[in-house]
Amino acid sequence: MPASPTTDTPSPRQAGAVRIAFDNSYARLPERLYARLDPTPVAAPLLVRVNAALAEALGLDPAALASPEGVAVLAGNRVPEGAEPIALAYAGHQFGQFVPQLGDGRAILLGEVVGRDGARRDIQLKGAGRTPFSRGGDGRAALGPVLREYIVSEAMAALGVPTTRALAAVATGQPVLRETALPGAVLTRVAASHLRVGTFQYFAARGDIEAVRLLADHAIARHYPAAAAAEHPYRALLEGVVTRQAELMARWLLIGFIHGVMNTDNTSIAGETIDYGPCAFMDAYDPATVFSAIDQGGRYAYGSQPRIAHWNLVRFAETLLPLLAETEEPAVEEAKAVLAGFAPQFDAAYCAGLQRKLGLLTGQAGDGALGQDLLTRMAENGADFTLTFRGLCDAAAGPAGDAAVRALFADPASYDSWAERWRRRLLDEQTDPPARCAAMRAANPAFIPRNHIVQAALAAAVERQDFAPFEEVLDVLSRPYEDQPDRARYAAPPAPEERVLQTFCGT
Ligand code: AMP
Ligand code: MG
Repeated sequence: MPASPTTDTPSPRQAGAVRIAFDNSYARLPERLYARLDPTPVAAPLLVRVNAALAEALGLDPAALASPEGVAVLAGNRVPEGAEPIALAYAGHQFGQFVPQLGDGRAILLGEVVGRDGARRDIQLKGAGRTPFSRGGDGRAALGPVLREYIVSEAMAALGVPTTRALAAVATGQPVLRETALPGAVLTRVAASHLRVGTFQYFAARGDIEAVRLLADHAIARHYPAAAAAEHPYRALLEGVVTRQAELMARWLLIGFIHGVMNTDNTSIAGETIDYGPCAFMDAYDPATVFSAIDQGGRYAYGSQPRIAHWNLVRFAETLLPLLAETEEPAVEEAKAVLAGFAPQFDAAYCAGLQRKLGLLTGQAGDGALGQDLLTRMAENGADFTLTFRGLCDAAAGPAGDAAVRALFADPASYDSWAERWRRRLLDEQTDPPARCAAMRAANPAFIPRNHIVQAALAAAVERQDFAPFEEVLDVLSRPYEDQPDRARYAAPPAPEERVLQTFCGT
């Protein structure tokens, strides 16, 4: 990746209207965990968007962020008072291969804030210039991928999935050189933290057990405070991370999300979805679905995600072994016992979610098989994942609602014979139909960030500087569980010529 032109003008700490009450716990950890450096200023920052609701939840003033001084902060041209900019060290398994040094090659953590809800969050600039971890990269991000992360991470939040958030996007006025020259941008990302499985791996691989212990203590204090009081705090940490990843995988599968690059450096210790690259939502249901152009072996296919999350958790557990017991053998036994909890926790969360999607609010033993049978038929018939489940909300009221769902199946009779079984099962439900319908709507979104819709919005922004489609897509996706009758086209699957077959990380 060739370097893009940058200036090296220093960015002095400045007091001004942008007041951010930073409290930077990571920057208080030893210096070998990160590198201190300021963002590299950009030529001509132009605000694309500030996420006002998120700013307010964080106790920030959206108007101040959108002011020229605020935009300078969001572009990395001005370092606000109280920020302690750092690039974090981490390693990671990428497509199964261990890379001992990755790190924030193009992201700079400005600092942490405690939001109105009392939760601490990182504020990070992604695309803020080269760092000691940049390797051959230019430290920059292109506008398209920045807007893509903005749309998809905000959609995930509205869908109720734990995720990093997008606080702002700023165009830099500088090109980034990829296959062609593209407009550059900086994303302001908000995360519970940027601790990754790969952060632990970086120090474990160097035999720096003290650093692993500091990271584990930091993770416990920040994300798993109950573990501090447990008999074995580090085991409790591992249990907490396993549980959150199991629940996250269930959430992803239940809405048809494919991350695309589930490397250990993209696996959050806090249990959030992080690092949106070639991620995508499935249209027609098929567990083998892969969109990412770089995932040629299909390692990170939709249906493989729980297995891969488990694999990543085994890598995490390996880093904790010296903390789990005095000697290796009992430590491995401890780790194995905790990791064995992943599959049952995933199964329970996934099955409960599938029951909610089917309107089966009082769980029964055969419900999992009933759900799997539907999924098998959907796969055989190319049925759209999102529309099928949304359609079941109406079909649950009676066969009059079947027409829309049947039409999604290549062979509608395949749906009919399943629906007969489903209706018999629904007779055992005590919930009255309107309440069931409302519960099903809350579990089955009408709107997801469909690839063709996202791609069209990005093309308008990047090729024509038209940000109206980007704004409209964000607005539609901010209420994914509501019917929005005037926006039916955002709910529809792509026409054959609109179908997106591959997505790119665009780094
Ligand atoms: P990602 O594929 O975005 O998860 O990134 C994997 C690694 O590559 C991380 O260490 C990133 O910081 C680094 N990286 C990605 N893009 C760039 C870039 N343009 N410049 C420098 N480092 C980068
Ligand atoms: Mg990454």
